[in-house]
Amino acid sequence: MLMENGTILIVGGGIGGLTAAIALRKRGFAVDLVERDPTWSVYGVGIIQQANVLRAVDALGILQDYIGAGFPFDSVDIYLPNGRHAATIPSHKLVDGQPANLGIGRRALHDVLGKRAIEAGTTIRLGVTPERLDDDGAGVTAYFSDGTNARYDVVIGADGVYSQTRAALFPDAPAPLFTGQGVWRYNFPRPAEVTSLHAFQGPLGIGLVPLSDDLMYMFVTTPEPDNRRYERSELASAMRDKLSGAPPEIAALAAQITDDDGVVYRPLEWLLVEGPWHKGRVVLLGDAVHATTPHLGQGAGMAIEDSLVLAEELSRAADPETAFAAYRARRFDRCAYIVRASIAICDGQLGRGPMVDQAAATFEMFQLTAQPI
Ligand SMILES: Cc1cc2nc3c(=O)[nH]c(=O)nc-3n(C[C@H](O)[C@H](O)[C@H](O)COP(=O)(O)OP(=O)(O)OC[C@H]3O[C@@H](n4cnc5c(N)ncnc54)[C@H](O)[C@@H]3O)c2cc1C
Repeated sequence: MLMENGTILIVGGGIGGLTAAIALRKRGFAVDLVERDPTWSVYGVGIIQQANVLRAVDALGILQDYIGAGFPFDSVDIYLPNGRHAATIPSHKLVDGQPANLGIGRRALHDVLGKRAIEAGTTIRLGVTPERLDDDGAGVTAYFSDGTNARYDVVIGADGVYSQTRAALFPDAPAPLFTGQGVWRYNFPRPAEVTSLHAFQGPLGIGLVPLSDDLMYMFVTTPEPDNRRYERSELASAMRDKLSGAPPEIAALAAQITDDDGVVYRPLEWLLVEGPWHKGRVVLLGDAVHATTPHLGQGAGMAIEDSLVLAEELSRAADPETAFAAYRARRFDRCAYIVRASIAICDGQLGRGPMVDQAAATFEMFQLTAQPI
C-alpha cells in the first residue's frame, strides 16, 4: 500500500466529499475535510438514488442507515403527457435482499453521511477553505482561510460545479454551461399511491419522488431561454404557472404550491472535464469534474462511485499520480455517458434534438450502471 497512514485533505463537505472521507477512512488514511459553509446547510428537497448507488453505499458500509433515512422502491412508473400510465419499468437490484432504488431527502442523506464520516474518524472544519495549495512534488501544503496551514500527501477537490480547486489546477478548463432549462422542486405529503418514481413524459419533465412515509417531492424541468432570476416572493406562483396544462394528478398538486420558501429553483448547468482530472498531488471528484443535469438522476451516484474508486486506487498504487490516472481511466466513460445522455434528454425536451424516449433511456442507463465500477 502506497501511503499507509497517508494524510489526505478533502475540500468540500457535500455528497462527494463525505463519501470520499468514509471510503478513505475505511482504508486507513488520515482524513481532514474543510467545508466553506459555516452552517453546512443543505436545501430541503430530495434526490433519487438508483441500484448502482445502493451498491456503492453498501460498499461504504452504511447501507442500513441510508435506507432507513429514505423511501425504498423497486420500479419506475412512466406516464404519458396526458397523464395516462404508460409503463412500469422494474429496476434491477444489485444488492441481494435490498431494494433497487431509494428516494431520500437531501438533509436526511447529509445527516447520515456527515454522522458516519465523523464516526469513522474524519476531522471536519466548517467555515474554512484553502486559500492556496502549494504542491512541491513531495506533498501539498494547504494555507487555510482561518490562518492555519497543514501538509498533506494528497488533496481532493470535491467542491462542486464551481470548484475553486478546479480553477486553481486548470484555469483554462471550461466553465459550467447553462442548458436552457431550469428545475423547480417542492415537497408534498406523500399520497399512498406514490410508492415509486412517477416520471411524466412530455416537453416538461415532471416527476414525483417518494422520500419517506410522510413526504415526497415534485420536480419539473422547464425551458428557461433567458436564464432569468426569479425573486423569492414570486417562486410559488411561477412554479404553479409553469405547471398549467399539466396532467390532472399534477395539476391538483400544483394548486397546493403556495409557500415561496418551499420552492427550490435552479438553472441547470453541466460540465465535463475531458482532460486530466488531477495535477501533481491534487485530484478532483464529483461535480467538480463531471456535473450532469438530473435527467437520469445519477449525478450524486457518480460522485459516490468516484469516492470508492479513488480510495481503492490510492490504497494500491505506488504513487498518487498513478492512482489518479487509474481512477480517471475507470471513471471517465461512465461519467461522460451520464452527462451526455442527460443532455440528450434535455435537448429533446427543448426541441434542440430528437425527443428521447425516457423509458428506453432509463432502461439503457440501468443496464450500463449495473456494470461493476
Ligand atoms: C436540480 C438537481 C437535481 C438533482 N437530482 C439528483 C438525483 O436525483 N440523483 C442524483 O444522484 N443526483 C442528483 N443531482 C446531482 C447531485 O446533486 C450532485 O451531483 C451532487 O450533489 C454532487 O456532489 P458533490 O459533493 O460533488 O458537490 P456538491 O454537492 O456541490 O458539494 C460541494 C460542497 O463543497 C463545498 N464547497 C464549495 N466550494 C468550497 C471551497 N472552496 N472550500 C470548501 N468547501 C467548498 C460546498 O459548500 C458543498 O458543501 C441533482 C442536481 C441538481 C442540480
